[in-house]
Amino acid sequence: MIDTYKDKGLRKRLIDELTHKGINDKKVIAAMLKVPRHFFMHTDFRTHAYQDKAFRIAEGQTISQPYTVAFQTQLLQIEKGNKVLEIGTGSGYQASILVEMGAKLITIERNEILYENATKLLHKLGYNATCVLGDGSLGCANEAPFDKIIVTAGAPVVPKALIEQLKVGGILVIPVGDESVQKMHSIIKKSKNNYEEIILNDFSFVPLIGEQAW
Ligand code: SAM
Repeated sequence: MIDTYKDKGLRKRLIDELTHKGINDKKVIAAMLKVPRHFFMHTDFRTHAYQDKAFRIAEGQTISQPYTVAFQTQLLQIEKGNKVLEIGTGSGYQASILVEMGAKLITIERNEILYENATKLLHKLGYNATCVLGDGSLGCANEAPFDKIIVTAGAPVVPKALIEQLKVGGILVIPVGDESVQKMHSIIKKSKNNYEEIILNDFSFVPLIGEQAW
């Protein structure tokens, strides 16, 4: 896998575009400048990897738009050593950004082929994430509690299990809405039974499919 000067230049241009769109977290910007997005995409789309667009991966799923990855990651306020759960491993790109930022990452994917592909790729690239095959709408009870949880598929409601598995002071970032459009929710757990929910911009994700989802 090669990351050429041209790739690096295109990546820099993309990140500049994201900063113009309001992304300002230096740690997010540094990680996105470092990780070659084209490694996570089908070779047919290689030349498009540094456009601010979502693209098809295998199994009818998508690698999220770079702006969406940056927006969600910025909301998480990742600190080095944070224990983070990602729901929807997909290509593994978002996972690599979180690991690059120093998160101890558990990432869960329901589709077996995507799980296998991403596990192999993350390992090959040296991104030390724990990959799990399963229904992330139930969280990952045996690894809980988490400092941060990110859901990268659209949910009809916030799954209760995810709030339960968040530490007090932790943040859950999740798109919630119908199957075509969702609003980004940022939920901060204030105490065991109390949380603050901030509802932000519209996004369009593939559906979160599972017991506490569609
Ligand atoms: N984060 C990914 C990336 O960086 O490429 C993009 C994820 S894609 C938009 C959404 C992923 O969520 C799909 O791979 C889909 O199979 C997965 N998914 C949907 N429902 C899920 C569930 N209940 N548990 C785990 N993964 C799920």
